[in-house]
Amino acid sequence: MPTDGGDRPLRYEPLRGLALWGTEEEAAVSAVVRARSPFRYYGPDLLGRAQAFEEAFAERIGTPYAVGVSSGTAALACGLVGLGLPAGAEVIVPAVTFVGCPNAVSWARGVPVFAEVDDTLTLDPASLEERLTDRTYAIMPVHLANVAADMEPIMDFARRHGLRVLEDAAQAAGVRYRGRSAGAWGDAGAFSFQLEKNITAGEGGAVTTADPVVHDRVLRYQDQGGQFSTSSGQVRGEGASEPFLGVNLRMTELEGALLGVQLTRLDTMLDRLRSIARHVRAELSGTVEHWRRIPDDEGSGGDVTLFLPSRTDARRLLRLLADAGVPAATLYQGQGVYSNAAVRDGRTAWGVEWSRPARCQRSEQFAGRSVTVTLGATMTDADVDWLVATLRKSYEECRAGGR
Ligand SMILES: *Cc1c(COP(=O)(O)O)cnc(C)c1O
Repeated sequence: MPTDGGDRPLRYEPLRGLALWGTEEEAAVSAVVRARSPFRYYGPDLLGRAQAFEEAFAERIGTPYAVGVSSGTAALACGLVGLGLPAGAEVIVPAVTFVGCPNAVSWARGVPVFAEVDDTLTLDPASLEERLTDRTYAIMPVHLANVAADMEPIMDFARRHGLRVLEDAAQAAGVRYRGRSAGAWGDAGAFSFQLEKNITAGEGGAVTTADPVVHDRVLRYQDQGGQFSTSSGQVRGEGASEPFLGVNLRMTELEGALLGVQLTRLDTMLDRLRSIARHVRAELSGTVEHWRRIPDDEGSGGDVTLFLPSRTDARRLLRLLADAGVPAATLYQGQGVYSNAAVRDGRTAWGVEWSRPARCQRSEQFAGRSVTVTLGATMTDADVDWLVATLRKSYEECRAGGR
């Protein structure tokens, strides 16, 4: 069993899509290998697995378009390019998130501006006003740990101020908010198919959008700008719109094949995780004083995050949980993403582009006092009972001053 740096092996595997890899995934990959056709646009026997995945994924998320790319970070950068982010424009990003968010903004030649998260651990809509400048172009809400951000007030704010919205749904594939999927609320959505995500193919990402202009720009950008001659003299990508320079961020057929299978498992897995999370929270409702607020629990992908009165208490609970073999963490160590030295100092690959963003103290407080238990896709009922009992015992011990 994997360990999480704790004293004991973890009781269950804290993974989502990867825990469900099985014979169907093997068969799907084997078919691509047998056909010797791993490239989505080139080869003797094109299978169209990446394209088939794009179509199925767009259908599931509820957008007319989805474009598969090489990673979630690539999806974010492509999304910003798709939205037409001008060089030097500002993108509002929540303070508590993965470093891939400011990395993607920098890649797309923008400047990240950090806004507060609230007790949902997602972007606080009330924080947007104070981050608005005449250079603000877009907002990047992050749907953290399978919980959708509060999209309605965020979209209202964006529309009022003429801003574009790119949702980071890397941690929330399939999650819904008020009946609509994460990634279908904004002008574009970005997904990741990395290790700890709901569906995974090793690497990979996708951009979803309902906007044909965004779709066209993303499609071109991830494929060398979309119009070029190959060494064998062919010309690829004869679109109608004006070309611009791109890069290569294509999804492979191996990824497309794997993701096509993973997608068929997604909703069953999310239903199970949501019901486990609800059961755990209900069983501990008389014990735990402060749960993370979930903007729409009906659509969430299953979250067990609680707040302790202080950062020290959260650390103590984490130690107790590690001792017991519960996979748990304080998300991003309870720090703003700008605690990363390069992000803080604006040291991009192109030079120093911003300096010391204002700290988001409220975000650091909420994140630092939080403990998130990671649920696993293959948890048994016995694992769930064990989790309830262990969480109760550890929480009570922590509140009594232990460890
Ligand atoms: C994983 C993740 C990403 C980046 O995805 P990669 O596929 O690892 O590039 C971006 N944002 C968030 C919130 C993530 O969790």
